[in-house]
Amino acid sequence: MLLKYGDTGSLTELLQLALSRAGYYTGNIDGIFAEKTLSAVRAFQRAFFLKEDGIAGEKTFEKAARFIKGYYTREIKKGDTLWNIAIMTGSTLSSIIRANPGIDPDKLTVGDRITVPFPFDIVPTDISYSSYLTGLILDGLTVRYPFISRFSIGKSAMGKELEVIRLGTGKETLFANAGFHSNEWLNIPLVLKFAEEYLKAFSEDTAFYSLDAAELYSQTSLFIAPLINPDGLDLVTGALTSGEYFERAKAISENYPFVPFPEGWKANINGTDLNLQFPAGWERAREIKFKEGFTGPSPIEYVGTAPLSEPEARAAAEYTENNDFSFILAFHSQGSIIYWKYLDLLPPDSLRIGELLSEASGYPLELTPESSSYAGYKDWFISKFNKPGYTVETGIGRNPLPLSQFDDIYKAGGALLAEALRIASEKQTLT
Ligand SMILES: [Zn+2]
Repeated sequence: MLLKYGDTGSLTELLQLALSRAGYYTGNIDGIFAEKTLSAVRAFQRAFFLKEDGIAGEKTFEKAARFIKGYYTREIKKGDTLWNIAIMTGSTLSSIIRANPGIDPDKLTVGDRITVPFPFDIVPTDISYSSYLTGLILDGLTVRYPFISRFSIGKSAMGKELEVIRLGTGKETLFANAGFHSNEWLNIPLVLKFAEEYLKAFSEDTAFYSLDAAELYSQTSLFIAPLINPDGLDLVTGALTSGEYFERAKAISENYPFVPFPEGWKANINGTDLNLQFPAGWERAREIKFKEGFTGPSPIEYVGTAPLSEPEARAAAEYTENNDFSFILAFHSQGSIIYWKYLDLLPPDSLRIGELLSEASGYPLELTPESSSYAGYKDWFISKFNKPGYTVETGIGRNPLPLSQFDDIYKAGGALLAEALRIASEKQTLT
């Protein structure tokens, strides 16, 4: 990781956000490393005893990352009390105790290392996302709320971990995923912010969509995969701008001049659409997409060489097969609608749950148009398990949707996720 004067893109936005949260940057978070960012980096380096060169390299990022992750590690010194540490950092006693299970505030040992959460929410909703940012957020959530679990379900084409977090301990399990399509990335902050709000409400026993977060937490388990296509995301938001994979993607895109590069890129880094990879009418999808002219690697609409030929789709399928989810939610954009059917299959509860999700979000239920009716993740889930599956198309407009839509998307998507938890917690009464 190295950013310097003149650089642009989502990683520069991330750096600006970190410097801003740390109190060293007051400019716009615009992703442009210019004078203001340069002087903020220098001031930050000075304050943290780093070489003051104005270049954000490994060491600067390591220090800055704590302001994204939302905590730092502190070595207990003579005279420290948790109370003093909380006051010094603006943190709260309860959040420190939560982040350090088993700690005895009366028996701090000099030299012990403890986690100190910062007094701000972790999940940003005003900057572009990257796989790096997503990883820092998962780190922050897992450390601040150590009772949740985080694990990998596979690796992307470029070798990045495909991660899942589990919220809840109950037996009714739900799977929510986002980021299959790289230029629909506003759904990543949607599911992550929902996770953070849910964890806060659960830990602090505060209001949560008029629901009892503790009850939801004990009756359901929400598994969230925020980013199924990390390589594609990095390409779209300018975190990946060089190297073999970038050059190949760029060459592929040159055959499709009507798709803006890189922001129109929807596929994984190999040029395969991950939501046209599932063994549910894949041959039919292939026929349709070939007729539309997508016969090889492309920024959009290419089905790949075979069902589940791509590692990200394979990981999602294998993970789903190894679990027994009550229903699944796949977040996409756009249209502000919910696709709920595959062919004429009607898994038990699928219409009823769909209607409840529709009511909560304000997104109507729709039938999938023929040209995108096959080989999607939810199509496969419905046909393979005979259980309800939904593709939630958030927002309205041309992808990637602008950050200015986030609040509307969260309003609908957050309410939908909360309703999904409520439905799962009451599932026994539904049938
Ligand atoms: Zn999509």
